[in-house]
Amino acid sequence: MTGPARISGQGASAGFARGPVHLARRGGRSYIAKSTPEQELQALHLAVETAATVIASAMGQVSGDAADILEFQLAMLEDGSFTEAAAGIISSGATAPVAWTVVLDAEIAGYQASEDASFAARSADLADIRDNVLSALSGDSAATIPPGVIHVDEDIAPTRFLAHDWSTGGGLVLRRGSVASHVAMLARARGVPMIVGIGDGAIADAAEALLDGQAGELLVSPDPVQIAAFNDRRSLSQALQRDADAVASDPAVTRDGETVAVLVNIADPDDVDRIPIVHVDGVGLMRTEFLFGGERGLPDEDTQLAAYRKVLAWAEGKPVTIRTLDAGGDKPVAGYTIPEDNPFLGMRGIRLSLARPEVFRVQIRALLRAAPYGALKVMLPMVSIPGEIAQAQAMFAEEAADLAGAGVIHRMPEIGIMVEVPSVAVTPDRFAGAAFFSIGSNDLTQYVLAASRDNTRLGALGSIDDPAVLRLIANVTRFGAENGVETSLCGDAASDPEMTSVLLGAGLRRLSVAPARVAVVKAAVRRFVRGEQPG
Ligand code: PEP
Ligand code: MG
Repeated sequence: MTGPARISGQGASAGFARGPVHLARRGGRSYIAKSTPEQELQALHLAVETAATVIASAMGQVSGDAADILEFQLAMLEDGSFTEAAAGIISSGATAPVAWTVVLDAEIAGYQASEDASFAARSADLADIRDNVLSALSGDSAATIPPGVIHVDEDIAPTRFLAHDWSTGGGLVLRRGSVASHVAMLARARGVPMIVGIGDGAIADAAEALLDGQAGELLVSPDPVQIAAFNDRRSLSQALQRDADAVASDPAVTRDGETVAVLVNIADPDDVDRIPIVHVDGVGLMRTEFLFGGERGLPDEDTQLAAYRKVLAWAEGKPVTIRTLDAGGDKPVAGYTIPEDNPFLGMRGIRLSLARPEVFRVQIRALLRAAPYGALKVMLPMVSIPGEIAQAQAMFAEEAADLAGAGVIHRMPEIGIMVEVPSVAVTPDRFAGAAFFSIGSNDLTQYVLAASRDNTRLGALGSIDDPAVLRLIANVTRFGAENGVETSLCGDAASDPEMTSVLLGAGLRRLSVAPARVAVVKAAVRRFVRGEQPG
């Protein structure tokens, strides 16, 4: 028996999980070869059918972007062209898993080599299809992760994450992955512990392991002392969460009596179904990229209007800040973003919206038409010069005039900006045309430290805790307070209760956080007193 092994990665979603290690199988490992090519082909057909059934049943549990991706996967499986190609290879003597892997790997390589970033991004879905069928072939039921396990994988597609019921515990450990990925965002939203970037080191298929998502650490086959220490940390965290949950609907007031607004970050409109409105002061960031990422192409005006109205209706008059499409960078959108060598510094966010007015105007009209149904605020991402605000405002005015001319009910919302490019954070006074500021600490950090947010090798370089980043946050917050410009922070740092005192110390009084972190951030606010924080 081997002793304990400590494996380090980057914490992507806080929380503790204790359970057996479940290593993702590159299927076929336990596959028993059949006696004839006919039997191999039959096994393949059966596995494709099983994978399709699993996907079809997962579709019933998800909606929006996730449902679209599953629909795509199902269509690919039902189309039969992969099976046909694999049948050719089987007829020349290969087993079903080998033939299927050859066909899918070639397809994936083609997608990865594509000039189009959206095609390259699609390769994860194809890998998902490949692995689901391989799992079914080896008798490891497709796409299923057993309940309560610590699942170790190369990376994982959002669909696979969503298809699993995490309510029974367990966690995720990714060899690659990124803290900024969609899966990491989903894990944070749902409170599933997750670490990324552990690399290629060997991991034993152990019966027991401990995962600490905050510390970014996996302990495999822990000894009794390590288990006891882990249990203590987990009990403390659970007790804190229970205490916090008990008063989650109370306002977040600091020890010296200042009220801090705690809002929530959402992506899919259905996210609000799991959030009691009494727990939050509204939506500080709705990322609309998820509406645009599906297989049905870019969403039309009515589809967007329905999504925005759903969130506004849920908010019962509390503010809802909807961000216009922030595609590009780490969030390619099929049929919209363009391939670039350095996408984080290229056509993303408002730059792309202004360059593609025919797409932007559809979103603008949907937002104008949604505005009468609640306290809508619109936020522009990746603004780097004041002219971008003026251009967007002019387009809103033109579309409002057009709607008025056609007698369509609408209203002009407040238009604010994300502060996530250093040019804005250094000179916020030049951006006074914005109705409000929301600091995007994820991007601000990567641009200030020249450290790509999806590069796990850079580790601490991507920390908001850097004095240069904190000084810029304080600069924006001070400008906002002195000039009556509402300023909030909606980057991931807002969701980390260990950062709350630092952010409040920098002057912020408005935080927008992941749904699963609302209660603990409110609790951290209640522990804060001005002047006690470090620095
Ligand atoms: C940010 O950059 O901090 C932010 C909130 O936006 P996103 O993570 O969607 O880029
Ligand atoms: Mg950003």
